[in-house]
Amino acid sequence: MFTMDQARSALQRVYGYDGFRDGQRKIIEHLAEGKDTVGIMPTGGGKSICYQIPAMLLPGVTLVISPLISLMKDQVDALHSLGVKAGFINSTLEMGEAGRLMWQAQEGRIKLLYVAPERLETEWFRERAKSIPISMVAVDEAHCVSQWGHDFRPSYRTIAPFIQELVQSGRERPIVAAFTATATPEVTEDLIHSLELLEPELVVTGFKRDNLAFTVLRGEERKAFTLDYVRQRASESGIIYASTRKEVEDIYDMLRHAGIAAGRYHAGLEDEERAKMQEAFLYDDVRVIAATNAFGMGIDKSNVRYVLHYNMPKHMEAYVQEAGRAGRDSEPSECVLLFHPQDILTQKFFIEQSEAAPERKAHEYKKLQVMIDYCYTTGCLQNYMVRYFGEEGEQPCGVCGNCKDERESIDITIEAQKIFSCIYRMRERFGVSMVASVLKGSRNKKVMQYGFEKLSTHGEMRHLAEKEISDLIYVLIAEGYLQLSEGQYPVVRLLPLAADVLKGKRTVEQRVAKSLKPKAGTVIDETIFEQLRLIRRELASQAGVPPYIVFNDSTLRELAELQPTTEAGMLRIKGVGEAKLKQFGMPFLEFFQQREEEAGRYDME
Ligand SMILES: [Zn+2]
Repeated sequence: MFTMDQARSALQRVYGYDGFRDGQRKIIEHLAEGKDTVGIMPTGGGKSICYQIPAMLLPGVTLVISPLISLMKDQVDALHSLGVKAGFINSTLEMGEAGRLMWQAQEGRIKLLYVAPERLETEWFRERAKSIPISMVAVDEAHCVSQWGHDFRPSYRTIAPFIQELVQSGRERPIVAAFTATATPEVTEDLIHSLELLEPELVVTGFKRDNLAFTVLRGEERKAFTLDYVRQRASESGIIYASTRKEVEDIYDMLRHAGIAAGRYHAGLEDEERAKMQEAFLYDDVRVIAATNAFGMGIDKSNVRYVLHYNMPKHMEAYVQEAGRAGRDSEPSECVLLFHPQDILTQKFFIEQSEAAPERKAHEYKKLQVMIDYCYTTGCLQNYMVRYFGEEGEQPCGVCGNCKDERESIDITIEAQKIFSCIYRMRERFGVSMVASVLKGSRNKKVMQYGFEKLSTHGEMRHLAEKEISDLIYVLIAEGYLQLSEGQYPVVRLLPLAADVLKGKRTVEQRVAKSLKPKAGTVIDETIFEQLRLIRRELASQAGVPPYIVFNDSTLRELAELQPTTEAGMLRIKGVGEAKLKQFGMPFLEFFQQREEEAGRYDME
């Protein structure tokens, strides 16, 4: 097989990194011994290195099975920029081109071949594959093989038979490495079974992402919050996820009207516009993009500084995957979830609408409840996730919204009492907007029809707008004083906590987000950083790749800090390997050399 010394030296030479992270090292050690391995590591954990380095060192070809067509191209581009020979076969490729690649693989002229799982279903591919010396099969997004995963893809079920067929044709059985970012213990067991792994080693590298600060905000006015939040981060890349196309459109319009260059992405747009938007985001032409969960499956952009969820997603797997797109370069980043009780109804509606079997629906409801509990937990948010995926939560993370709550509390006991007593007088039979109308003192038809203008609480909150009253009611729902019934016309009811408030035994506080201000930048010179970004932008467009493929933000920051003027100095920077130095290094070196010269001239004068 290969040795760990070889692996380390490849890491240094090709990627420009000094050492493996803990999980990477363990996975590569197992693969070096020729063992099947399951790697469960969060997005941004440096998964691709775990199979790319073994692929370079093993004889023959590594077949990488990946469901994401756009990601394949990115990965292959990235490998080429590192000087590694790789190719991909998917539906965007012409038959002749695919044949040529298969030929190169057969000759051993490429080390990694990326294919979509559907490819294994074609006779043509299965036959040609038998003449390729495949020494490893790396299965990406391996949870897709399990029915209990959140993204079951039947074509994944052809992987095990495909490998069997290879063996039956007289080939040696390749090592199988399976990777996923999100698998509960139940799903892990299922995937080991379905992929027919042989006594696999399991490496779980921790869902803890030290550079991500998670926050849940309940009862915020979402639009105002979002606009403010994005404005404060004008120079940073961010994704705003919303549940519906309509909300994506609303956010997009709001940002554009405020003069912010924003993108949008959802399944209702033409393919062409979607591709354009994705590209604009990738190339930093727009810094913020509003999107449904259709966005991001193929996005490997490393410098996303924040992921803002405008709605609660349907389960933790989706949340971890989407939020995990922040901070892949290990720089501090934020993941904020704006929770609104309406989200629960929306998600229940989606489950009801689906044509899944009752057993499956019950499973979805269970997952939804876990997500809701996350929004209400007062403990460390990172630990909550980590435990869900079957790991012991260790120390509180110290940076999430619950570990570090800097919000201001304001006393809203009197408002709460007015609202509760109004709901009580309306006999707990009406929805949020009707309660708000009565408190506002409206005399609309419906209010008069029920004689509510005669209630003592009618008009008790006339100093507020109806919208503000509704928002307050939602805060009280989110905090567990009130409950919203299910169904198409949800009704607000009092919960036991509300009775305590009415009796004066309990006060109500609302926490107002004062924090979430952008953190002060590090000590590096931002002007230099911006100039380096421009150089990178230029190199990227010449090479036809996204900027982060040239160098990612943390490499750029280190460059700005150390300002190397020699090739040796440049190679000491994390993320600068030999191939990248050769391809992209010169313009940076020249920039620093010129600065040094200018500084020297000043000294002499
Ligand atoms: Zn925490």
